[in-house]
Amino acid sequence: MGYLLISAALLIVVIVTVVAYRKGEARGLHDNDTEENKKNKALLKEISSKGQLVLDLQAQIDALNDLNGRYLTFMFTIPSIVKRLNASQHFDEVISSISRLIKDVISTDTVEIYTLDRENDILQKVSSEGEAPEAQCTYALGEGLVGAAAKDGMLRTKDTIPKGRIIQNNTGQDKSDIWMAAPINFDDSLIGVIGIGKAKKRTGNEGNFMKMIADVAGVVLMNQALLGDTKHKAETDPLTGLYNRRYFFQMAQNAVEKSIMDHSPISIFLFDIDHFKNYNDTNGHDAGDRLLKELSSVTLKVTRKTSVVARYGGEEFIVLLPGLGKEDAFTYAERLRETICSHPFPNGDMQPLECVSISGGIASFPADGGSIKELVSLADTALYQAKSEGRNRVAKHKPFFFSEAEVVK
Ligand code: GH3
Ligand code: MG
Ligand code: MG
Repeated sequence: MGYLLISAALLIVVIVTVVAYRKGEARGLHDNDTEENKKNKALLKEISSKGQLVLDLQAQIDALNDLNGRYLTFMFTIPSIVKRLNASQHFDEVISSISRLIKDVISTDTVEIYTLDRENDILQKVSSEGEAPEAQCTYALGEGLVGAAAKDGMLRTKDTIPKGRIIQNNTGQDKSDIWMAAPINFDDSLIGVIGIGKAKKRTGNEGNFMKMIADVAGVVLMNQALLGDTKHKAETDPLTGLYNRRYFFQMAQNAVEKSIMDHSPISIFLFDIDHFKNYNDTNGHDAGDRLLKELSSVTLKVTRKTSVVARYGGEEFIVLLPGLGKEDAFTYAERLRETICSHPFPNGDMQPLECVSISGGIASFPADGGSIKELVSLADTALYQAKSEGRNRVAKHKPFFFSEAEVVK
């Protein structure tokens, strides 16, 4: 505002001077080389240079206003973003929120986030908004600006990094257009790197912003990892890696709700390893554990990705088959049973039935029952029937269309 007043005042001075000069000229007062003329010329020159100064100052004010706006955006949005980031369950959402946060405060088109693959000591790009997946790239520690920031554990900028400090890849060029890179740490251990392209409007504060955002990203990504780990542990069986019974019921409930909406069936297949006690007794408990693992992976191979395979109990498994009616479920179960019996499990041929075999029962929704609990109980009865009929077989639950009472009537 102050500068606007100064510029207005200066403009008035210029106009008044020019008018006065012109008036004098009209009256023939100015000879080319009079003292007054010289003074006026010098004055005009000075005024014009002051005008330029005012314009420069105005540009600086605009830049400061822009920076101020970005600071305010950052300060106002950061608490809600951190809250949202921490509440977010999906890694992709977290990554894209961090990218958006950076773009809100730094005027750059390129934001890349890398996470450290600890086993291979490689930084793997995880965000590439607007980029095709094949453009994904990796950096070794020390390679490129991204690798340098990771290795040095500090912010690195292309303009300031010492020459020869960056290890080039075999093309001799940096793989991406990163201008500034900040390491993401948590408790002094490296999690990843945030890289940005050149800022379109430099403010000089990009480094500070990057450090702050990298700190936030460190906490959020670590929470994500812990949350993901806890969630994984809560949902899976540690020995086989299959889902556990609790998660099975959760998934099954969701599937029932979906199936009611879609008018599609659901079947479940409950199965149990035959003579497993004998396997343990003859081969040892550890061999029994290995059998459980191998049988789980054989089952996963035979099963569609849309189905849920869970360890139901000791040597009992359950498969949720969304979209499959009883006959389709039976076809699947028979294929699985045959695959298991012909699989070369260690000492499988020493089992009483000369192979590692399973017996199972099938029940379907809505044909056999109205709830998952009911289906499991019916499938369990069918499984018991398969055992009693000689094992290594699959039995379907057979609904009774007429109760005895009705028949009698
Ligand atoms: P059936 O054909 O009637 O199913 O007979 P089975 O021997 O398979 O059934 P039984 O219920 O008599 O024995 C099951 C055995 O499974 C007993 C138990 O020690 C074993 N078992 C349960 N969980 C585990 C496990 O995690 N690891 C190992 N190695 N054995 C287990
Ligand atoms: Mg058994
Ligand atoms: Mg059993």
